[in-house]
Amino acid sequence: EAERLRLPPWLKTTIPTGSKFTGIKKQLRELKLSTVCEEARCPNIGECWSGGKHGTSTATIMLMGDTCTRGCMFCSVKTSRRPPPLDPREPHNTAHAINQWGLGYIVLTSVDRDDLPDGGSAHFAETVREIKRQNKDILVECLVPDFRGNRDCIQTIAECGLDVFAHNIETVERLTPFVRDPRAGYRQTLKVLQTAKEVNPDLITKSSIMLGLGETDEQVEQTMKDLREAGVDCLTLGQYMQPTKRHLKVFEYVTPAKFKEWEVRGNELGFLYTASGPLVRSSYRAGEFFITSLLK
Ligand code: SF4
Ligand code: SF4
Repeated sequence: EAERLRLPPWLKTTIPTGSKFTGIKKQLRELKLSTVCEEARCPNIGECWSGGKHGTSTATIMLMGDTCTRGCMFCSVKTSRRPPPLDPREPHNTAHAINQWGLGYIVLTSVDRDDLPDGGSAHFAETVREIKRQNKDILVECLVPDFRGNRDCIQTIAECGLDVFAHNIETVERLTPFVRDPRAGYRQTLKVLQTAKEVNPDLITKSSIMLGLGETDEQVEQTMKDLREAGVDCLTLGQYMQPTKRHLKVFEYVTPAKFKEWEVRGNELGFLYTASGPLVRSSYRAGEFFITSLLK
């Protein structure tokens, strides 16, 4: 077995603790809301939850259960062909908890539900409508599956009242078959993003690339250009981290300086914002970036 790469210093992080977080966590338990931020032990929780200069705090919630019908080689979510049925109370309960929390920006994401005829798009959309019904000021980003490219499902999401439509391309075209589930596709992802924009031109669209999987600079550049061509507004780039030994190995740890270069390139290519750094996740400080880019 090839030697595992040593973790560079810029990736050695600690999870924030302290009274502020204990308070929020207790509140979340009472609201029965579990966040991806906590479950993934995300190191950005301090920055995201506090919301920066404009106080636009961000958190990420996973809808439609914890079991996915797909199995991407980089992802540690459980897989099953037949996950449990959806909880019909989830849209209302999630909206209630988010509203009580008082967040500025919520990222709703989900597992892929290829077992459901509409991929769960109606359930997703209903959750957004509930959130906006309870508090129209909360900004909502949906980080959605590809719905196998189904136009009706994409339309259901694109017209539900959300602010940002996100779907991740994850990696460059050449590596896609080795990284993503065989049902996902590079071209399909571009099509999904383009369709969302066609259906609702006012939507802000967003995508994310993981680096460190063996991609070349030219391939990253091409992916960025392909996203722009599909009308994508916002881009995030972060380091791929191997979740367990059974998952894809890290090919390389990309340096902070290199991430900075991609941020500059993203700005040159005309993205509304490019968040790029070793610890950046697709939802990283999304509320803050969103507000700041609108004020530009
Ligand atoms: Fe993980 Fe999403 Fe792939 Fe499912 S579709 S395995 S949740 S990355
Ligand atoms: Fe949560 Fe995403 Fe921020 Fe991590 S990057 S703390 S998962 S919102």
